Amino acid sequence: MNYHVLTLFPEMIEQGLNTSIIGRAMEAGLISLQTLNIREYTDNKHGRVDDYPYGGGAGMVMQAQPVYAACQAVRKSIKSEPRVIYMSPQGQVFTQKMAEELARENDLVFLCGHYEGIDERVLEEVVTDYVSIGDYVLTGGELPAMVMIDAISRFLPGVLNNEESAACESFQDNLLEHPHYSRPAVWHEKEVPSVLLSGHHANIEKWRREQSIRRTLERRPDLLKQAAEEQLLSKADLEYLEQLKKSASFL
Ligand code: SAM
Repeated sequence: MNYHVLTLFPEMIEQGLNTSIIGRAMEAGLISLQTLNIREYTDNKHGRVDDYPYGGGAGMVMQAQPVYAACQAVRKSIKSEPRVIYMSPQGQVFTQKMAEELARENDLVFLCGHYEGIDERVLEEVVTDYVSIGDYVLTGGELPAMVMIDAISRFLPGVLNNEESAACESFQDNLLEHPHYSRPAVWHEKEVPSVLLSGHHANIEKWRREQSIRRTLERRPDLLKQAAEEQLLSKADLEYLEQLKKSASFL
């Protein structure tokens, strides 16, 4: 996977992504990261990339010309037409499903806005996807782009040590993941659930699935509703869910 990030703050992206699992994946050549400083593409002799908004109002707007030139430069370096993702609070909200889907691309271009955003006319010409990382407003698109790169990279073969872990985490089947425990078996007088010490794999799997359902019902009932609608729950899952809903703790 080749990531290309168009930004006014390339060092933020480079420093943010060069450590831990993503940094290791870059070193191993599983991921490449190219940052393009939009400022270097301006034809303004003072290096200006923003200007006042037409119609007045607060803040500055990133101008069309440097964004377009940076985008053309990156498109020229890629053989096929890449998806160009504009990080925007007005976009579709990013999900694990979207991350999995985007991980199938060879190249992804992220466009990071700043100030009040970017001149609408260039967005109309270059952007293929508008993506938000949540219903709040940040100062720039760099953190959202890093969030997306991290989540997408976890689906690329070899990036995680344990290939299974990307497929068995929260949001798989629209459920939250079961709780985890590690040594010691007793901590602050709290014991690890005995089934996890039993060595009985079928019972452990059953317990984990039930915990997933319980946790999702408690914390994200909206996800569970969607899982049922999309027929992601088995007969046993639905029976357990019914049982849970009838039990005193959920009344
Ligand atoms: N004026 C814009 C609005 O109200 O929709 C907000 C602009 S914001 C201050 C500056 C930049 O930060 C945006 O162009 C975008 O790239 C990025 N940004 C802010 N919040 C975001 C979010 N929730 N998801 C993705 N990008 C975001």
